[in-house]
Amino acid sequence: MLKSFKTEINPTAEQKVKISKTIGTCRYVYNFYLGHNKSLHDKGEKFMTGKSFSVWLNNEYIPNNPDKVWIKEAYSKAVKKSIEDGYTAFTRFFKHQSAFPNFKKKGKSDVKMYFVKNNPKDCRCERHRLNIPTLGWVRLKEKGYIPTTKDGWKIKSGTVSIKADRYYVSVLVEIPDVKIANNSNDGIGIDLGLKDLAIVSNGKTYKNINKSARLRKIEKQLRREQRCLSRKYENLKKGESTQKNIQKQKLKVQKLHHKINNIRTNYINKTIAEIVNTKPSYITIEDLNVSGMMKNRHLSKAVSSQKFYEFRTKLKTKCDDNGIELRIVDRWYPSSKICHCCGNIKKDLKLSDRIYRCDCGYVEDRDFNASLNLRDAKTYEIA
Ligand SMILES: [Zn+2]
Repeated sequence: MLKSFKTEINPTAEQKVKISKTIGTCRYVYNFYLGHNKSLHDKGEKFMTGKSFSVWLNNEYIPNNPDKVWIKEAYSKAVKKSIEDGYTAFTRFFKHQSAFPNFKKKGKSDVKMYFVKNNPKDCRCERHRLNIPTLGWVRLKEKGYIPTTKDGWKIKSGTVSIKADRYYVSVLVEIPDVKIANNSNDGIGIDLGLKDLAIVSNGKTYKNINKSARLRKIEKQLRREQRCLSRKYENLKKGESTQKNIQKQKLKVQKLHHKINNIRTNYINKTIAEIVNTKPSYITIEDLNVSGMMKNRHLSKAVSSQKFYEFRTKLKTKCDDNGIELRIVDRWYPSSKICHCCGNIKKDLKLSDRIYRCDCGYVEDRDFNASLNLRDAKTYEIA
């Protein structure tokens, strides 16, 4: 099975130059191929396929035009791909599937830098970096999103693109067939919450990252920069600040937002990876009423910062990839109120009761008790 992944990268200044140069050369050659065929057509000569154009370009045109040697400096696979893209555009036009191919304009058209795995050292992926031919190791912003080579997954090819000064990589990954028989372990239940992100029935607790000292510090910084931004807006009215100052401050705020978002996403990825790596036969979670919780203005910020929706979507993908059944329990299932020992339902359980005490003598952490009940739930839907 092939699967594609797209994520933001953080190239070095040197890598950025190389990417722009390669994309520039690809755009030039693409347009050259289009223009060359146009003039062939005008002279009544035969259309040139992508392959024959490649041969002509390298063996005839460049040797006869030394001022075009720079074309050869770019990554040849990427250049070849741009000619192939041009050929595909022509083919679609000939089959009346699309209009006559357009010339690509600088900065306006999305020309991408194509790369392909050609030897075992290419396209290796680690949690935080990816090896791209001619660029070398490129840092990934979202750690652990692209599956690493270790898992037996193989990156076949990909593209690097630029949008609004940000750099992205998109890769095509070959995934080995899933062996469900591997997951002979028991199932697990996960209680998601605001106090902690996840309490797992195997005894592990994943804390709420938003309560960590590191995130609190950045959030404090963010509030300060936001206050500074609104002050600058006030000053603009009085003529004491400039648009340029505001833009600069806006960028500062954006960067902090981005940083916070990255930390939260990385934490979710890490949590899910750890849970899935225990290879349970199934995972049960509660169908959280996220939109309902968001309506509560006391909770909405805490709820959105936990990224429950992203957690569930990513958990589902990881479960699919690993042959784990994901069970969703109805939101009215009283997972917190059931005594895991005797099955009694404690109707008067309050939100403030952090410890569950049953008349049968059972005493347990409230959320852990809930995770056990989720694990053993008999009524559920399969996501
Ligand atoms: Zn009991």
